Amino acid sequence: MARLPDDDVYVVTKYRGGREGAFFPVQPAAGQSRLRQVGDDTYLATWHRAPAAVHWHHWRLAARPGFVVPIDDFRSLIPTVRHPHDGRELVITHAPSVADIPEPHPLPEFAAWDVTREGAVPFDLAVEPRAYGLGQLIGHWPLETLQTRAVLVVGVGSIGGAVADSLAGYGLGRLDLLDPDRLLWHNTVRHVLGDGEVGRFKTDALKDMLKARWPELDVRSHVKNVVRDAAEVRPLLKEVDAVVCAADGIASRRVVSHLARRAGRDAVLTSVLEDGAFGEVLRLRRAPDEGCLLCRRAPLYGSGGMDPERALERGYGDGDPHRPMTAVGPDLRLMGSLAAKVTIASVLQRHGYNEQRLPGEQAIIALRPQPGFQAPFDLRRAGEVQWHPATPPLPGCVTCSHP
Ligand SMILES: [Zn+2]
Repeated sequence: MARLPDDDVYVVTKYRGGREGAFFPVQPAAGQSRLRQVGDDTYLATWHRAPAAVHWHHWRLAARPGFVVPIDDFRSLIPTVRHPHDGRELVITHAPSVADIPEPHPLPEFAAWDVTREGAVPFDLAVEPRAYGLGQLIGHWPLETLQTRAVLVVGVGSIGGAVADSLAGYGLGRLDLLDPDRLLWHNTVRHVLGDGEVGRFKTDALKDMLKARWPELDVRSHVKNVVRDAAEVRPLLKEVDAVVCAADGIASRRVVSHLARRAGRDAVLTSVLEDGAFGEVLRLRRAPDEGCLLCRRAPLYGSGGMDPERALERGYGDGDPHRPMTAVGPDLRLMGSLAAKVTIASVLQRHGYNEQRLPGEQAIIALRPQPGFQAPFDLRRAGEVQWHPATPPLPGCVTCSHP
């Protein structure tokens, strides 16, 4: 039974029956719902206002299969029900007074009955609730705060698509998606979008997917390249609370690091490194003691360590014959979810939710760890997460020294 919110009316939309348990559509008729059974038999369903006691029967009998409310008892409680004589009638009862009955016996507001001359037998009725989806989280999660906040996602490939999907699930109000590319067949093995969207711009297809799932979300598609169209990204950054960069390529990450710092916005960079061995989520905050991307990477290079950005020019399905980039979809979605978590934590902490403080500013996750890597990539076991603090700006850094 679905609810039409404009009229606050409930309508039976389909029922399940027959040996196969298949769903059948309901043909509505004036004043009643006509349920078409398999074959030529047609059953009528009628609606009745009922006292709460009827639903108490329903609640009790549902746990005792085979028990029947005798027809005379049933009709004494609901005089508007016709005696079915030799026929059969499906009865739907509405008992608004059940709300007055306190727990621990929460009774259904609506109930359904198969009524024959022997009596009434309850059957399952699935009713669309008045509040579902994100509305269920009100009071349990800071939805009111998040619904007025916005995040820009740069790069909506395999990781970025998962970032956007997760941000929507957290109840964010507005999502800006920026990516210049179209979805191709080889993307779909890792992407949240499927084969049906191949050929479309990723931002457009993702916008449609998210709007279908989360109708209240404000999603905006920007078919742009963050490097080439940096001049247009600058004003966009002023409209959002934070930016996530999940784009391929060193240049994109550097541009996001620079523009976000200049705009005074938190940036979260996420990627999979070393051919799928490790994932990283790096948070860049505009703080005097926390450096930009280049400043944060400098200590690694200075100690003779690896260059974790080296392989980022390649897609996650590429690689070279010796070290194929073998990241799989769920590993990329794990990184996308963690990046969304870090981003939401940043937004909430800025609005006073101190329990959203993070253990550090850089998270390394072992996906398919391999020995021989230096810190902070010296994780040994799959699923291990290590958090590290930020390192300070380098003297003279163009990005960090901006007043
Ligand atoms: Zn810097």
